[in-house]
Amino acid sequence: MSEGAQKKQEKARKFQAIRGTRDLLPPDTALWNHVEQMAREVFSTFGYGEIRPPIFEATELFARGVGGDTDIVSKEMFRLQDLPEEELTQRLAYLQTMISYSAVSPSDGEPLLREFVARVIEFIDSYRSASQKGLVHRTESNDRRLSYLESHLGGLKGLENESGQRNFPYKLAETTNYFKVEIRDIALTEPKVLRPEATASVCRAYIEHNMQQWPQPVKLYYIGPMFRRERPQKGRYRQFYQIGAEVLEAVRPDAAKDAGKELAKDAAVDAEVIEMLMTFFERIGLQGTELSVNSIGHAADNCRRGYVDALREELQKVKEQLGADSQRRIETNPLRVLDSKLEHEQAIIAKLPHIADHLCDECKTHYAELKRQLDLRGVVYKENWRLVRGLDYYMRTTFEITARGLGSQDAVCGGGRYDGLVELLGGPPTKGIGFAIGEDRVILSLQEQQGKEVASGDWRAASSRTSIDVYVTWMGANNYATALHAAKMLRANGFRVDMPTMELKFGKALERASKLNARFAVILGDNEVQSGEWTVKNLADGSQQKLTEAALLEYLRR
Ligand code: AMP
Repeated sequence: MSEGAQKKQEKARKFQAIRGTRDLLPPDTALWNHVEQMAREVFSTFGYGEIRPPIFEATELFARGVGGDTDIVSKEMFRLQDLPEEELTQRLAYLQTMISYSAVSPSDGEPLLREFVARVIEFIDSYRSASQKGLVHRTESNDRRLSYLESHLGGLKGLENESGQRNFPYKLAETTNYFKVEIRDIALTEPKVLRPEATASVCRAYIEHNMQQWPQPVKLYYIGPMFRRERPQKGRYRQFYQIGAEVLEAVRPDAAKDAGKELAKDAAVDAEVIEMLMTFFERIGLQGTELSVNSIGHAADNCRRGYVDALREELQKVKEQLGADSQRRIETNPLRVLDSKLEHEQAIIAKLPHIADHLCDECKTHYAELKRQLDLRGVVYKENWRLVRGLDYYMRTTFEITARGLGSQDAVCGGGRYDGLVELLGGPPTKGIGFAIGEDRVILSLQEQQGKEVASGDWRAASSRTSIDVYVTWMGANNYATALHAAKMLRANGFRVDMPTMELKFGKALERASKLNARFAVILGDNEVQSGEWTVKNLADGSQQKLTEAALLEYLRR
């Protein structure tokens, strides 16, 4: 292909949304807005305020908060490439690239090796001085790399003297590669990712803004996009939306004195969170929801650990019958085996020990109280001993809600209690419970339900908002100003108005109005403008009348 043809082809490239992402369009967006509006309304009746955390955060926040072993953190995060801003660190970034990608072969001779060594020395010196000035991101692993580099620098410098020796090519490749890799892996700026979830962000914000000094508990909700590099399929996207809520509460210094009361209080908070969630689903008219609850004990002492050990022991006995993922999880995270959807593993899993038989007295009390509280609130639930949830931070209460019409990705919400997460992120002892609703799936399920007709929601009315109320047309250039005035006045009164950008013939104007789904057309010709009585046509029934400005408003409002 000629260069010209290639350029032409490149220009003709049709851009598409990136795999796993999608455009949300009208009229669907009206349903999205409706669902979000209902969440705002319901959550505020339970005393929640909105938090809007940033969509990118330090990688470390999720590594620590969600857990380095989880799929979300180990495989699915979108990393951001962030270049240094200061001149000195920009030079460092330049050196880092030059060193990492330079090829020094024996045939290049000494000048190239000398240049390589000079760059390495400049990199190390500049890094040290930038680090002293606080211009680079300091981490233990960066420090470790720097020390290694410094201690091996002598060997690198000495290479020039060995150029005649027999094994020189190997030594050159080995030594320079070592420096290339170590320098490449130094993080000059703090690694950042697009958030895969928001609970860790909310906890970070709780600590950062000293929310332990706000009236407790702090009840927050958020709505926004999350990012995970999962394999896209129906109901699973790489950019998806969550509506979530968190309740955070500083642990009182004297809490331990009355442990029983604390447990009951926690259970009531958990039950209220779940009640709110179910109220929301009811409010948007989502049918066929099923709530499952479980207690997974608590991490610190014997109760969860005892269960995990027992589970691992049993799993070892049936290891050969399990798939590769489950086999791996026996070591890394045996609880996750319970999540397995593999057909042939189901019968094996059914025979594994249940957590309920391993809960300590406190966890048992808490779980019993949770169920009592749910009953009191009229919340219908199922118990599911296999509900462990994938993230590290959960303890005691876990819950999940499934909905209809979603195929294999039928979980529309997951949540649980996570006392200790704030502390893990460097904050004061704090209790926490929260959930995240998968908004994409809620919308899919609503749309699937009753052939896109939502019984109790009025989103159809909302979606018709994409069409307009009044189409304003004028005949004759002299009347344009009056048409502009009419549109402005109607919009100021809350009507959705459209008008052509050029004068249209009468028939054409009405045609356009009906295409736009307008309910009324206001027609302004010489007669109307002179008499002050405007013609308004009801496009549904074809009736037509002349009204003054004030009477028109009155008429349209009716
Ligand atoms: P999680 O944060 O993994 O507990 O997920 C909470 C909810 O978010 C799930 O129940 C799903 O409804 C939704 N969700 C999670 N991952 C995705 C995804 N990749 N695409 C769409 N929804 C998702």
